[in-house]
Amino acid sequence: MSGFSTHPDHDFDVRIHDALGNAELRESFHGAMHFLRDKRRTQFPDPNALEALRDRGAAIRDRALARLPDLLEQLERNCTRNGIQVHWAETAEEANTLITGLVNAAQGKRIVKGKSMATEEIGLNSAFEAAGFTCLESDMGEYIVQQANETPSHIIMPAIHRNKASIARQFHTQIPETPYTEDVDELIGTGRRVLRRAFAEADVGISGVNFAVAETGTLCLVENEGNGRMSTTVPDMHIAVMGIEKVIERLADLPDLLRLLTRSATGQAVTTYLNLISSPRKQDECDGPRQVHLVLLDNGRSRIYADRQLRETLRCIRCGACMNHCPVYERLGGHAYGTVYPGPIGQVVMPQLHGLDRAGKLTQACSLNGACGEACPVRIPLPDLIRRLRHEGVTQDTGSPVKGHGRQRKPAEALTWKIWSLIHRTPWLYSLTTHLATRARKLLPPWPRAWTNHRAPLEPAERSFREMMEQRGRDPGGKQ
Ligand code: SF4
Repeated sequence: MSGFSTHPDHDFDVRIHDALGNAELRESFHGAMHFLRDKRRTQFPDPNALEALRDRGAAIRDRALARLPDLLEQLERNCTRNGIQVHWAETAEEANTLITGLVNAAQGKRIVKGKSMATEEIGLNSAFEAAGFTCLESDMGEYIVQQANETPSHIIMPAIHRNKASIARQFHTQIPETPYTEDVDELIGTGRRVLRRAFAEADVGISGVNFAVAETGTLCLVENEGNGRMSTTVPDMHIAVMGIEKVIERLADLPDLLRLLTRSATGQAVTTYLNLISSPRKQDECDGPRQVHLVLLDNGRSRIYADRQLRETLRCIRCGACMNHCPVYERLGGHAYGTVYPGPIGQVVMPQLHGLDRAGKLTQACSLNGACGEACPVRIPLPDLIRRLRHEGVTQDTGSPVKGHGRQRKPAEALTWKIWSLIHRTPWLYSLTTHLATRARKLLPPWPRAWTNHRAPLEPAERSFREMMEQRGRDPGGKQ
């Protein structure tokens, strides 16, 4: 899957360790996340207005999800009427076969792609490579990571882990006749020159879809660089790939969602480019693609949809605010997760897509501080969902549609929690344990290294809390 680990749990501890040990990376993410949080805050100066907007956003998404099957059929009808060819793909493999087939049929060889998380999810670039096609990422951040053979580390800012010096080195060594410069405008100019040529020569343009409007058969695409517009208008064929949850009822739903999306994602009041695509080029028009295809991707979403609570995941508008507000993501960066979707939304989506046996460990990378849930513009209860998936990871037979139940269970850990639970439910046992722990504290075994690697060792107090309070009752002014 486009260089992403298909088993995110593998080496997760190693990746965490590496990320925490990388001072440059931590500094980059610390600065970037604070910058994005501050920018978002300035766009929502009135907390009451923000909460009202979040309510409306969540309601729009809920209404659309409640009618999802009907809306998808309505979208298909209206797109088809407009001349957009609609295709359905149940799995990532089906989608890749379908898209490479369309490119083949058009005898396309050169492909440009706008930023699209759905195509990252299905590993489309790898499928193109296997089919012998060249696909160039046209979003500047995506272009940088593709050229470096890396993967995006954030769903909105794919190259956020990179600084200008490393990009300057990369462009200097990989793009012929490019002098070394750390001037950001010049670096952007260099990338733009390469991409302009690619747009002019491309046979096929690929894009994602931010929202698809069922009532009009319109595809809405939000972007800042103009590469999305170039990818969807210059080549003769445009293929849009979208998760089935992205459909909304009416055009009138768009303004609130766009307000929430751009302000939450990049702290912008409005996006630089808003593309509303309703048809291929018409007879009297002099530009635009001659064919527009829409691929509706399921890839596990129907399974998620079937569960009332998990369905809330599908409200996501992929703004990235939950990552920007997550203290764990801020310290680890996106690559440590080893998944297409990192951060809180990734911790919820990936176990549902891949199963708890393959991605359940991700749910542990959370302090349950709740910041993601408070930041989410469409009120997805991310902490509740993470807690639920954690529970299912260590419990058998919960009746949930998520695969791999109980596969995170470790016998020693389960036994420890059983003992902990028994002690805390039995007052006399609790008193005895705290009494013994305080008296014999010097004899207790040292704390395990995994705990004390990054923390000071804990040492029980001389007296238990209850004993201290009893002492205070007897002798209010005395030493505790
Ligand atoms: S879960 Fe919420 S905050 Fe996170 S990406 Fe989705 S919409 Fe944005």
